[in-house]
Amino acid sequence: MKKIIIIGAGIAGLSAGCYAKMNGYDAHIFEMHNLPGGLCTAWKRNGYTFDVCIHWLEGTSPNSPFHRIWQELGVIQDKKIHYKDISVRLISNGQTVNFYCDPDKLAKHLKEIAPEDSETIEELVNTIRKAYKLFNMPLTKAKELFGVIDKLKNIISFIPFMKFFIKYGRMNIDDFAAKFKNPILQQAILGLMADTEFTQFFGVPFMIATQGCGFPEGGSLNFAKSIEQSYLKLGGKIHYNSKIEKILVNNNEAVGVRLEGGKDVKADMVISAADGYSTIFKMLDGKFINNKIKNCYETQPTFPTYLQVSIGLDMDLSSNSNLNNSIYNFYKLDKPIEIAGKEHSFLSLKNYGFDPTFSPKGKTTLVVGFSCKFEDWEYLSQDREKYQQEKKKVERAVISFLKKIIPRIEEKIEAIDVATPLTIVRYTGNWKGSYMGWANPFSVKVSKTLPKLKNFFMIGQWVGGTGVSGAAQSGRDCLEYICVKHKKKFITTTL
Ligand SMILES: Cc1cc2nc3c(=O)[nH]c(=O)nc-3n(C[C@H](O)[C@H](O)[C@H](O)COP(=O)(O)OP(=O)(O)OC[C@H]3O[C@@H](n4cnc5c(N)ncnc54)[C@H](O)[C@@H]3O)c2cc1C
Repeated sequence: MKKIIIIGAGIAGLSAGCYAKMNGYDAHIFEMHNLPGGLCTAWKRNGYTFDVCIHWLEGTSPNSPFHRIWQELGVIQDKKIHYKDISVRLISNGQTVNFYCDPDKLAKHLKEIAPEDSETIEELVNTIRKAYKLFNMPLTKAKELFGVIDKLKNIISFIPFMKFFIKYGRMNIDDFAAKFKNPILQQAILGLMADTEFTQFFGVPFMIATQGCGFPEGGSLNFAKSIEQSYLKLGGKIHYNSKIEKILVNNNEAVGVRLEGGKDVKADMVISAADGYSTIFKMLDGKFINNKIKNCYETQPTFPTYLQVSIGLDMDLSSNSNLNNSIYNFYKLDKPIEIAGKEHSFLSLKNYGFDPTFSPKGKTTLVVGFSCKFEDWEYLSQDREKYQQEKKKVERAVISFLKKIIPRIEEKIEAIDVATPLTIVRYTGNWKGSYMGWANPFSVKVSKTLPKLKNFFMIGQWVGGTGVSGAAQSGRDCLEYICVKHKKKFITTTL
């Protein structure tokens, strides 16, 4: 039985492990943390669960082509899924705009606010319909296995989207917002991306097209643990607290790994499901690159990183109509909050009151998030005291804002926690604290293999496996590819 070592028990690594076992390989996952999940995680404080990852998950609905992968990984069958009606509720200057996931409902709501903008509203809603069509395209075999016919079929399947990509691919969000005559809708569109580094309109339809993408009860870590359980049931082995320092190479073939502390473990193949930069430039000392890879890591922007303030409240907000039914509420701040030198004029708030597993009965977990630049936090962290002061400052600013929408909140806080971009790095090793890999996964095409290195593969968010579902798919694709290379039929089972 061929032995595969998988570095990292994030979603990509766990998925690869499951498919490796389904196909008769001896799979060993090495994870530096003491938990599975990587970015798909959560932690407990004083009885409250603070979740950091899944807001909406592709493939929860049986209608989604992706659903099959979650079934194969045995992670969806017994899970209660919570769905939201509204993707983003935007509250600015006393006005509320609900970005409903259902395009028809959204069009109706926006036309009620601004009948004069009917035409632009229809245009917006049509971009969302296109995003749904893209999400619902049938899954194909691993792209690495595409022959000429497959490539041709793939090109043909994208023809109906060409106009959409050409028209909106490079359109600036300011330009789209300017099409609205109504200032409320103009501001609402701008507000959707205001806290991010993104200036392109293209993200908007994908942000709203979340109908059928639910939240698995129990949250992110629970979800990851379900895949871990499937992997263990299949006979896979997992080694926690085991950081990989080097990938062992002999005659341009990966032959195993060296753990921190110096222990070597041999294998027939190595799959890295860990951070891309560490894998290529640290574990492999930058020896297996070409200009494309070098250029990519030198010039391509990474997805922004993130700061989260999590709050455990002795208050029941599960039926608060202003805080429910949306994945996020975005609030325009009267006074911007300065975080690590950057002004934030919007705050995103998430109420987990809908999931009874998140807090003791009658209590609520809230999460406030800000998009950040890693360099700002890296700089701050050089002075431990300043770093801690900044965390406290953010905490105070957030509470001061929340007081306006949740009276007496300060008296009710039973747990509070600020996780910075450095927390993301410490927990997962991801380069620059990025939680989606590259900023523009459409323009960065990086392969799952490295030049001249045999028996080695990369999977996960740095090689196109973006998001939880993308990470799982990349693990599956990798094993399909390995099976074909070994002239084996790729087998999947539904757990
Ligand atoms: C705030 C936030 C919100 C998000 N929202 C969503 C969402 O709503 N929907 C969605 O689909 N996705 C979302 N994501 C993105 C999603 O979590 C990630 O894209 C996905 O989980 C990446 O999985 P991965 O397996 O590729 O990488 P990772 O999760 O980074 O896993 C890598 C694993 O490798 C381990 N590792 C690293 N180095 C080593 C080493 N040297 N030795 C051993 N182990 C190592 C790490 O500890 C980690 O466990 C969100 C993420 C965050 C943080």
